[in-house]
Amino acid sequence: MNDLQQTLDQLRTALGATAVLTGAAISQRHYSDWTGHAPACPAALLLPSSTQQVADALRICNAAGQSVVPQGGMTGLAGGAVPRETDIALSLERLRGIEEIDSAAATVSVWAGTTLQEIQQAALDAGFLFPLDLGARGSCQIGGNIATNAGGNAVIRYGMTRDLVLGLEVVLADGRVLNLLNKMIKNNCGYDLKQCFIGSEGTLGVITRAILKLAPLPGETTTLLCALPDYASAVSLLRRLQRSAGTPQAYELMWQDFFRLGVSWLENPVPPMSDEHPLYVLFESAGPREVLEQTLEAALEAGEVIDAVLASSHTQARALWKIREATGEFPLRMTPLNFDVSLPIGQIGEFAELCRQRLELRWPGNHSVYFGHIGDSNLHLTVDCNSLPQPAPILEIEELVYTAVGELGGSVSAEHGIGLLKREFLHHSVDDQARQAMQQLKDCYDPRGILNPGKILG
Ligand code: FAD
Repeated sequence: MNDLQQTLDQLRTALGATAVLTGAAISQRHYSDWTGHAPACPAALLLPSSTQQVADALRICNAAGQSVVPQGGMTGLAGGAVPRETDIALSLERLRGIEEIDSAAATVSVWAGTTLQEIQQAALDAGFLFPLDLGARGSCQIGGNIATNAGGNAVIRYGMTRDLVLGLEVVLADGRVLNLLNKMIKNNCGYDLKQCFIGSEGTLGVITRAILKLAPLPGETTTLLCALPDYASAVSLLRRLQRSAGTPQAYELMWQDFFRLGVSWLENPVPPMSDEHPLYVLFESAGPREVLEQTLEAALEAGEVIDAVLASSHTQARALWKIREATGEFPLRMTPLNFDVSLPIGQIGEFAELCRQRLELRWPGNHSVYFGHIGDSNLHLTVDCNSLPQPAPILEIEELVYTAVGELGGSVSAEHGIGLLKREFLHHSVDDQARQAMQQLKDCYDPRGILNPGKILG
């Protein structure tokens, strides 16, 4: 009997035969994540249904030196959950459910395989908001959200996933269970170990349970679209709004090219204002409408805003959001190469110009669009590969963009993680010393290197 067969036998004894699948019994959705990158049928798929089973599985694999790839909802955009044929995939989908909502502490305790949408709904039913929100909410799991430190739609107000996690239970590569569960806001008992696992993309441990912060339900929101003369105005308007109208729920900047594209794809492609302005911002606030109107008047007087539309109904607000949601059409209408990068907010305008110039110099006439959650220092840039010589020089474009990110002190990954797809570009944002320190942390928690090998650090 070969080593793999022996390991599988031990896993079947520990977890039960129905929790250890091989070959055709493994659904193809475990072959790759949302990117469809390098699909492969793993050597086995484990479906543990308790922390103890996760611990047993990892202990057995670690002893055998068998690599394990943790898998959540497979909606990742960096290839982090993609297995090789020699890996064993470990899915958290059977560790699912809400354990408790503590209304006094304003926390929810959940199993790692619970979908984000289930947690949002449970919070709502209890009169709270769980503010993490992203397009994949129906499929992504909270364990995956934590492992990627997901961002999403409400970061400007509530922070990244890291800011919403109070406690974790994690199984280490050798099967030890770390109980880091905690409901308290203040807790300074030594190193905050849970932070190591948030954003570690399954390379340091398997998250099995979490305690998350809940927020009060927001009141009515007001949606506003403004045309701006330049990037500096986008930043000063944001600060003005924060000073007077409170922390926004959203602050979505669209460069002219993106705005025009978004409008042209509307059912009724009539822009809500002239499409000749350099920049547009979609802003959403939960503060009093009168305060927002006064702030807007002051911004118009100061020349920060050229034109504005204040939505007067939910339908009008939805119509404005439709322009920003053009990104959902990208895969249908172009061959998009998407970038998700971060820069200090003051440098984002300069970065967009630099990229545009360098792309134009290298591939004249190419089509790229710029938009982003700039209040979170996050810019998205999409290059339409149909506008480039074929086959599209993907690697060269990536190198061009990430080099510019590095030059301006930015991050090659704002919210999607590094996984496999950005591994070659990590050095633009993380220097040698810091990468060595990351490797030391990996060696400490996973000395045999069995957890998600090849992800983040290679
Ligand atoms: P997977 O894709 O299954 O795994 C992601 C990584 O986490 C892998 O490295 C995996 O090994 C690891 N992992 C998963 N579960 C565990 C666990 N329990 N313990 C340890 N490691 C684990 N992301 C954003 O940040 N913001 C967005 O706005 C956003 N929007 C999206 C919209 C759409 C339509 C789609 C398809 C994706 C979007 N994403 C976004 C990306 C993706 O949804 C997030 O990265 C999400 O957090 C991944 O969760 P998942 O459960 O699908 O994880």
